[in-house]
Amino acid sequence: MCILPLLNNQGILKKLKLNEKNELNLIMEKQRYERPFIVKLNAGLMNKFGTRAENQPVTHIESVSIKGLLKEFGSPLFVISEQKIRRNYQNALRIFKTRYPKIQFAWSYKTNYMNAVCRIFHQEGSWAEVVSGFEYDKAIGNGVPGNKIIFNGPDKSDNDLIKAASNQSLIHIDHYDELYSLIRLSEERNLKPRVAIRVNMDTGIYPKWDRFGFNFENGQAWNALTRILSNSHLELVGIHCHIGTFMLSPEAYKIAARNLCELAWSAKERFGIMIQYIDLGGGFPSINTLKGAYLPGSDTVPSLDQFADAITDVILGYGFKQDELPLLILESGRALIDDAGYLLGTVLATKRLSDGRRATIMDFGLNSLFTSLWYEHKISPAQKMSDQTEEMIMFGPLCMNIDIVRESITMPMLQKGDQVVVHSVGAYNMTQWMQFITLRPNIVLIDTENNTHIIRKAENLAYLEQLEQLPEHLK
Ligand SMILES: *Cc1c(COP(=O)(O)O)cnc(C)c1O
Repeated sequence: MCILPLLNNQGILKKLKLNEKNELNLIMEKQRYERPFIVKLNAGLMNKFGTRAENQPVTHIESVSIKGLLKEFGSPLFVISEQKIRRNYQNALRIFKTRYPKIQFAWSYKTNYMNAVCRIFHQEGSWAEVVSGFEYDKAIGNGVPGNKIIFNGPDKSDNDLIKAASNQSLIHIDHYDELYSLIRLSEERNLKPRVAIRVNMDTGIYPKWDRFGFNFENGQAWNALTRILSNSHLELVGIHCHIGTFMLSPEAYKIAARNLCELAWSAKERFGIMIQYIDLGGGFPSINTLKGAYLPGSDTVPSLDQFADAITDVILGYGFKQDELPLLILESGRALIDDAGYLLGTVLATKRLSDGRRATIMDFGLNSLFTSLWYEHKISPAQKMSDQTEEMIMFGPLCMNIDIVRESITMPMLQKGDQVVVHSVGAYNMTQWMQFITLRPNIVLIDTENNTHIIRKAENLAYLEQLEQLPEHLK
């Protein structure tokens, strides 16, 4: 006896069985009941963006089966593709290197500071960009030499500053109070920190990002530079800006590059000091779709080439001598990792809301998918489904009203137990996730040979209560 699986033209699995008398019998798989509903017929028509392809099932990440991953590591589950990270990095490096001779990337730790992820970037040649004391220690723990750590952010303690100065790290000063602390500490301890300032400016993007660093237009940035340049304890090595995040305008980077070049030029003219690097930060968009956007991000986001053109045109054309060209540092975060991360999850239940809308409740929500606050994440079914679709609201599992994964998404008729893949979640979710009601899930890395590795274990109650202490009278 043998059984042959085959698909009919609706994609429904049937099996052919040969019985003892060698007669062919068709065994129909039991079909799942889907309630009937009425919709306006638009078969064969395109919507205004073209034909719908978004509901194609996604069954594998790299060549690893999603069902298998969920079975082995539980649901929900974060999955990261090492291959994608390396490709994204190499691609970005190529794009900038083919346009400018001296390029250095520094991995933005806060975007995703799983050690395995950071180490992939460091193996590729990335420095570390950190914004807090504990991120700084993480970078040291990941083997990054002190002089390849960029220390950004408004919150550096005296101890952080002393440590970073002693390690020759690149301290990007955010405000005058930090500058004065650093001067005091350097004098007290006879340190000579390598510093840059963060500059903020009007790049035509509103609301203006002027809360970090020294302002360009009102002269604050130049004032801070002159104080540094006239202080024998500080070594000015660079100028930094990070003009915003998910920036859609290469033009804004032109303005930023021009302003930083102008500061560098003035430093050279007036103090005879040529700074070593210009750091234009990150902010390049990933292909996610911002909430309320008319078209999907994959169609509207400018390519990295356009940003690289904008930035390198300005620096190359500014007039620096060839041997004085500053190193160009980039702190790109989300653009390098977002599409390497996936969140797999399972439908807990479906229901009808009082207004008749279909609601699907998932086992992940705002707690693990913080970015659903600003993105309309692409979500695919993880199994073959029928072609019927319906608009639905997708909720997370939390007992709070704002726990919404998608306000409105048109998907096949997902039912309890069905599984889905959320795309492009590699940036900011694994650092901004919150532990509210539920425990954080496993994170699995698929390496370049398609082996799977847990890089962060799912939390349990013991982990959660580890830091709690009970006063004697409550024991
Ligand atoms: C967050 C951050 C980055 C990375 O930003 P992306 O938008 O993810 O590229 C880079 N530099 C600084 C200073 C940051 O705060």
